[in-house]
Amino acid sequence: MMNTIEVGDRKFEISITNERINERIKLIAAQINAEYEDKRPIFVGVLNGSFLFMADLLKEVNIPCEVAFMKVSSYKGTTSSGEMKEVFGLPENLKDRNLILVEDIVDTGFTLKYILEKVYLQQPASVRVCSLLFKPEAILSPIQELEYIGFEIPNEFVVGYGLDYDELGRNLKHIYRTIS
Ligand code: 5GP
Repeated sequence: MMNTIEVGDRKFEISITNERINERIKLIAAQINAEYEDKRPIFVGVLNGSFLFMADLLKEVNIPCEVAFMKVSSYKGTTSSGEMKEVFGLPENLKDRNLILVEDIVDTGFTLKYILEKVYLQQPASVRVCSLLFKPEAILSPIQELEYIGFEIPNEFVVGYGLDYDELGRNLKHIYRTIS
């Protein structure tokens, strides 16, 4: 396995291997399988970053469920702009449904805050967030709904397994951190 790689003009080193990600996913899915057994949850993945996590997680979910994706404005470079654009593709049938929002990473929390405001307008029965990564030191808008977390990581920039650096690196199997 290559421990350091280049993405665009930056160097990265391995942080979380694909094997560790999949072990963690099995545990999260087991919890969701137990907690949502008779609830027919609808999983809503936030694109683009969640596409691999969503796919691997859903392969381990074995209860009746629905799957959808939505999109918000993209994240440019290595710092959060703080400004959001539009929400696209949010399902319109969320009333009285049990929603699980699936994210790649919660950084400041502003993206999710924005999404959650739109989601609650539809009066779902319940809303929880499942995020592969969480940066506790970076949170500015705490998310009560953040129930399932893959890994807590320090306040560093990561790439791979769905996460990009200027749109590159989403296809990497492992998660890499920037080398400072
Ligand atoms: P937040 O609104 O919580 O600050 O940021 C959430 C979004 O910012 C994520 O969905 C992701 O697209 C992006 N983001 C935050 N931190 C990182 C990071 O370390 N690496 C990458 N590639 N994207 C990040």
